Amino acid sequence: MTMNSVGRPTAPETAAAAPIGTFTGNRGLAVEEPLLFEIGRHDVTGVDLDEPGRFAPRLGAHMRRAPIDLPGLSEPEAVRHYVRLSQKNYAIDSGLYPLGSCTMKHNPRLNEKMARLPGIADIHPLQPLSTVSGAVELMAELGRWLLEMTGMRAVALSPKAGAHGELCGMMAIKAAVEARGEARPIVLVPESAHGTNPATAALLGFRVVPVPARADGTVDPEAVRKLLSPQVAAIMLTNPNTCGLFERDVVEIARAVHEAGAYFYCDGANFNAIVGKAKVGELGVDAMHINLHKTFSTPHGGGGPGAGPVVLSHRLAAFAPLPFVRMEAEGPRLVESEAELAEGETPFGRMVAFHGQMGMYVRALAYMLSHGADGLKQASEDAVLNANYVRAGLRDLFSQPFGDRPCMHEVLFDDSFLDGTGVTTLDFAKAMIDEGYHPMTMYFPLVVHGAMLIEPTESESKASLDLFVATLRDLAMRARAGETDRFKAAPRYAPRRRLDETRAARTPKLKWEPPAPFEQAAE
Ligand SMILES: *Cc1c(COP(=O)(O)O)cnc(C)c1O
Repeated sequence: MTMNSVGRPTAPETAAAAPIGTFTGNRGLAVEEPLLFEIGRHDVTGVDLDEPGRFAPRLGAHMRRAPIDLPGLSEPEAVRHYVRLSQKNYAIDSGLYPLGSCTMKHNPRLNEKMARLPGIADIHPLQPLSTVSGAVELMAELGRWLLEMTGMRAVALSPKAGAHGELCGMMAIKAAVEARGEARPIVLVPESAHGTNPATAALLGFRVVPVPARADGTVDPEAVRKLLSPQVAAIMLTNPNTCGLFERDVVEIARAVHEAGAYFYCDGANFNAIVGKAKVGELGVDAMHINLHKTFSTPHGGGGPGAGPVVLSHRLAAFAPLPFVRMEAEGPRLVESEAELAEGETPFGRMVAFHGQMGMYVRALAYMLSHGADGLKQASEDAVLNANYVRAGLRDLFSQPFGDRPCMHEVLFDDSFLDGTGVTTLDFAKAMIDEGYHPMTMYFPLVVHGAMLIEPTESESKASLDLFVATLRDLAMRARAGETDRFKAAPRYAPRRRLDETRAARTPKLKWEPPAPFEQAAE
């Protein structure tokens, strides 16, 4: 294997070559795949183009002087390259994906079918509104469901991810504070929060003040009260929180926050645990983002099209950004510009150029309509049941940081059950890869030492959970039996062994450099 000599481990160091030392570097039918640049050749192309006739180029000084230097591949070579890469990709369609707080649930194919209907898939954001009234109606219907489920007043559909939704909700809060002629520079964020919460507040120029966690993993209303002042604009609280626990004092916290003239932002990433069970509006929440790619089963995508609509209470509704859907006597109307605003509508601006991720709206609404109110509620109940089933299956071998009590949709363990074994949370996760499981969320939330956060979701069967639990039990017993090497050497069966993740993050190689030409190398 001389081809992949640049920027990546060469074959002998890889798992592929190590155990038997195959001639090709392949491992069974799992084919080692070099970069396109390493296998492509300049004299090959997948398409035959006629030589152009006589023509006078008009590019002037911009004309390319050297060959374009793109790797050429035949069509089957190109197809194989991408198919092989796709086979290295672990996905919810290939197995259980227990990432806590990410809600990696099944993406029903019905959603995909709906999103591909030509009348929906082929519309363009610049089309005249009169030609897309069905799409506007669909947005209105999605908004109606979100408001019904949350008990809130208004919805901003356009944010394109949970973090973007946080930004939107916090911008509404900032606008509301400014509209009152106040300056409130502080935002309270519990220690267990997702990193995006403090990042969002800081991005908007707020000073982030952490709220310590209680011994039971939840937020103490007394601790919040002590930190509240006329300087505080908002609290950003996740409920259920990232320890998988419901914040029981949420109503009291909301009351204290409102009495201090501040707003209550709820991180709704864990909404899957409470759909149909609790309306956040009734708990006193003023703004909450909803990750359609978590709770409502739209695909997460690799940095691809997410959607993080934000629901707003009556305190913030007027500040909802453009564009928004207004219900009028003739039907829903998409309000796109300042000129169309009515009395009492004071949007803080807009988050995106157009209307947000239409394809995700379609998928999420398809999920809602196919489940119905009772089905959505049951999905939440089953998600909580599955997490507790995993908890019950592991509780005698694993350690729960906040005591042996029921969790919501995800179960949190710490690493104290590995004390004295020499095995870390990271080693344990790598050994799970050898067993064919994507690891759980690790080392988050930060309030727990060596955290392992498992969220099976409602879409796993009992048989699937049983095998998962049995696997984790076997690993825990092997760790305790002193088989440390097995963990330190893991993963042995992945396409790559342990990577130097710190170095990869600090000195990433993002560009392929061609090897030195032959003559130069010989000098
Ligand atoms: C996923 C998540 C977010 C961010 O959502 P993205 O859609 O990934 O931007 C924020 N908070 C929590 C608790 C999350 O789990």
